[in-house]
Amino acid sequence: MNAELLPGLYIVATPIGNLGDLSPRAAAVLSHADVVAVEDSRVTAGLLRHIGVKRSMLPYHDHNADAVRPGLIARMATEVVALVSDAGTPLISDPGYKLVRDARAAGHAVVTVPGPCAAVAALTLAGLPTDRFLFMGFLPSKAHARAEAIAEVAAVRATLVLYESGPRLSACLAALAEGLGDREAGVAREITKRFEECVTGRLSALVERYADAPPKGEIVVVVAPPEPPAPASADDGDAALAEALTRLPPAKAAGEVAKRLGLDRKALYTRAMELKDR
Ligand code: SAM
Repeated sequence: MNAELLPGLYIVATPIGNLGDLSPRAAAVLSHADVVAVEDSRVTAGLLRHIGVKRSMLPYHDHNADAVRPGLIARMATEVVALVSDAGTPLISDPGYKLVRDARAAGHAVVTVPGPCAAVAALTLAGLPTDRFLFMGFLPSKAHARAEAIAEVAAVRATLVLYESGPRLSACLAALAEGLGDREAGVAREITKRFEECVTGRLSALVERYADAPPKGEIVVVVAPPEPPAPASADDGDAALAEALTRLPPAKAAGEVAKRLGLDRKALYTRAMELKDR
């Protein structure tokens, strides 16, 4: 039995570039873990070296997860099992959710040690609304499937956040502009690293900027929500009222149009009476 921590599964977020972002709590859990489930042991070995510890590591990635999971679940009964990914928060476009699901089903403790996540870090850089956001992970690489995925979210009133790579960035931005219109957006690159930058502007300007110069490094794209529709004009109100009056009495016509166009019901009723008497 581990003297420092209770047995169970510990989800440990690690830096996305700057090793200084490893939290003291994350370092403590990694230092005392009986086993660390890792994507790539070479990457995690570097992190463990940074904090001056050696721990037993077990590869856990898309290709072996189903085979390795039952053994890890069994160990959680008596041991401290830490899960890390190569960078950032495990489970976020990284393996892990089935491990958490099965750990819960087996009745083991599941503890999170939160920290860096590229999606959230990019949201803090881009200067776009953050009250509602939709994380889309990586879009499909094939053009048709990508266009479909974009069309699916075109009407969603939330900032969109997606992961991308340098070579695919330009095609991705062009597909976003095509499917969503020319919205405000941001391209956050190499977050927390030496060449961190966040370039913002309309999608059309970003398409142009990156068309012939695919950027290096890791990238998050953030796209503003759709702009609210322009308010209905008095002419729109008149046209809708005239049509509604062919079917409904003035009060009902005014009510229907007020609801549909977001206009004042009383003013519409007065106008409906005028139109009716013409
Ligand atoms: N689990 C990670 C997290 O919490 O952000 C994400 C893992 S996903 C496999 C890797 C992708 O995250 C990269 O391709 C890139 O899109 C994004 N990413 C990771 N680190 C980044 C960084 N320092 N700057 C910008 N994007 C980054």
